[in-house]
Amino acid sequence: MVIRGTTRVSCPACGEPAEVELVQSINTRTHPTDKLRLLAGELNVLTCDACDKRTQLASDVLFHDPDADYYCHVVPGGEAAMRQAEAVFSSIGATGTQRLVPSLNALVEKVKILDAGLSDWAIEMTKVLLLASISELDRVLLFAAVDRDKRVLRWVLFDEDGRAPEPVSSSLDPYDKLAARAEDVAERRVDRAWALEAIKAMIASTN
Ligand SMILES: [Zn+2]
Repeated sequence: MVIRGTTRVSCPACGEPAEVELVQSINTRTHPTDKLRLLAGELNVLTCDACDKRTQLASDVLFHDPDADYYCHVVPGGEAAMRQAEAVFSSIGATGTQRLVPSLNALVEKVKILDAGLSDWAIEMTKVLLLASISELDRVLLFAAVDRDKRVLRWVLFDEDGRAPEPVSSSLDPYDKLAARAEDVAERRVDRAWALEAIKAMIASTN
């Protein structure tokens, strides 16, 4: 697997060919600047010389934080590719937390949650509860930060069309209650669909 190289692509807006550096493996200990570029939205991005349009390249990326014993694999190829990646994770017998996500943006959110010292599964469940409370379950809500002094979680909420992001905040209490319920979650895909099922199971078990 190529972990760092250049790839020839064409700008999707104007068709201008370009060479772009493509990073497919991020190790936070040996290459900390890759993580900074990821968080800044600058990793694997084509900025076209001809029309200035920025395009994120869809590519497999394996993120590994050895200090947190944490792996996250970005698998953009849809359900079949996800299943294949799941099988690979199982076969290599890696230890620690393992996650699969469909995009670099999803990876960025996972890394922010990890760096904040929070559990992604409890964050996903908190999101579903928050969205259900405003009857907007289909909206995109992304974790941004935690403020432990003020006891709030900060989020970015998108409109019905996935645009116009606006900052919102919520109490940290519901998250803390959820996080206290369980140890870590071994599932590799911890996303909205997972959280909906987890909340249904939680409601069923308390009734
Ligand atoms: Zn262009």
